[in-house]
Amino acid sequence: LEQKIETMNQRIPKKFPTVKFKNYRTKKRILVTGGAGFVGSHLVDRLMLAGHEVIVVDNFFTGRKRNVEQWIGHANFELIHQDIVNPLFIEVDEIYHLASPASPPHYMFNPVKTIKTNTIGTINMLGLAKRGTARILIASTSEIYGDPQKHPQEETYWGYVNPIGPRACYDEGKRVSETLSYAYAKQEQVDVRVARIFNTYGPRMHMNDGRVVSNFILQALQNETLTIYGHGNQTRSFQYVSDLVDGLIALMEANYTQPVNLGNPNEHTIQEFAEIIRHLVGSKNDIKQIKAVEDDPQRRKPDITRANKYLHWKPKVSLEDGLQKTIAYFRDELRISLKGQSF
Ligand code: NAD
Ligand code: UDP
Ligand code: UDP
Repeated sequence: LEQKIETMNQRIPKKFPTVKFKNYRTKKRILVTGGAGFVGSHLVDRLMLAGHEVIVVDNFFTGRKRNVEQWIGHANFELIHQDIVNPLFIEVDEIYHLASPASPPHYMFNPVKTIKTNTIGTINMLGLAKRGTARILIASTSEIYGDPQKHPQEETYWGYVNPIGPRACYDEGKRVSETLSYAYAKQEQVDVRVARIFNTYGPRMHMNDGRVVSNFILQALQNETLTIYGHGNQTRSFQYVSDLVDGLIALMEANYTQPVNLGNPNEHTIQEFAEIIRHLVGSKNDIKQIKAVEDDPQRRKPDITRANKYLHWKPKVSLEDGLQKTIAYFRDELRISLKGQSF
């Protein structure tokens, strides 16, 4: 066995980061849907570095090949260009099901497609998990709590969602995704995990993502006015992407099957958040309020008691450290785009 591991390690081309098959027996074949996206690509990095075999399935709606280019050509890595609304027949041990647009402008761009991805797409992934007896983790969202009437949000809260509003394609899509997961668990004994992810930021967020972190950083870097939607008293709690990846892996490995909130409980108003970013970028631009968006949740903060208890997880990266890394990333991106290179 030792000999075999050594041979495999020697086969890794030098251009790749060091990947060690620490324990050959625990090496898994892992599917990451949406693996070319922001969160997915960071998860892929972590799984590849742990020595697993990773298959990414992505339709490149919001994801980019560039996010996973560091692994293209590696013997343990495969990139499949496919829409998960279509069935997929492959053999895997675990599925991280992340494929879905995540930012409001992206998921509202084609609401019908967002619903199809989160319903038909999730059925396909649960069908795959059932056939191959693979464990599946569904990326759900804090948006299933809607505009919450309970604060902070704990997993036992059922939420307050407008079923026909502009966010419904995503909120209700993810709620059905959760319902499907537990129906497959009960009826077909599929081994499911459900992560309710709260606002996450970090490098590799899409430049035109439209989410508040990328918007404010780009506005501050380009000497533009920072635009707040509405009065700015609405709150969010922001988690850095590496903390989320730790949580997703811990949840996949845990024996806990109920939904788990993964987020940073450090809550700020959007006004405060604009001021923090402006300060960190070193910009002196104005912050102005513009028209509010419809059905904007007014308060959001995760109760992470459950994640703490069952996964021994809590976020480690401070807002300032996480934002510094993200600002540095967007600075580079702007430099590249100014040189006229394509993405
Ligand atoms: P993202 O848009 O960067 O990544 C989503 C990926 O899924 C992209 O690569 C996209 O091309 C792919 N995709 C979309 N529809 C697909 C389809 N039909 N078939 C195949 N691939 C498809 O978004 P993200 O921020 O990385 O989010 C990843 C997951 O986490 C999503 O499920 C999202 O709902 C969830 N989530 C994210 C956040 C956050 O703040 N980032 C918060 C809550 C939940
Ligand atoms: N499916 C898939 N890959 C698989 C197994 C199933 O994409 O490896 C799809 C299949 O096409 C079906 C869905 O998952 O539409 C649900 O599968 P399930 O077995 O629950 O349903 P059935 O095939 O019995 O309708
Ligand atoms: N927001 C804002 N300016 C922007 C983008 C967003 O004020 O340029 C606000 C938005 O109205 C919401 C919060 O910031 O209250 C978070 O928005 P985002 O789209 O990042 O994520 P959400 O949590 O709403 O899905």
